Amino acid sequence: MSELKRWRECSSCKKPIAHGQLYQVCSVSTCNRKRNSLVFCSVACWDAHLPFANHRNAWAVEERAPRS
Ligand SMILES: [Zn+2]
Ligand SMILES: [Zn+2]
Repeated sequence: MSELKRWRECSSCKKPIAHGQLYQVCSVSTCNRKRNSLVFCSVACWDAHLPFANHRNAWAVEERAPRS
């Protein structure tokens, strides 16, 4: 009964991110466009997008998925 409801999936490893779970977003605005924002299950997954994103200056921002 404790199965977590999936909210979105990690943009990097595709693991589900559950409602209420902590996740990471990129500090760069182009990675946070409303229609196509990137979300990551961990800092390691955020780190994995850096070679593709070519950011000059970026950090991971911790967020919590909405509860419902
Ligand atoms: Zn991931
Ligand atoms: Zn980014």
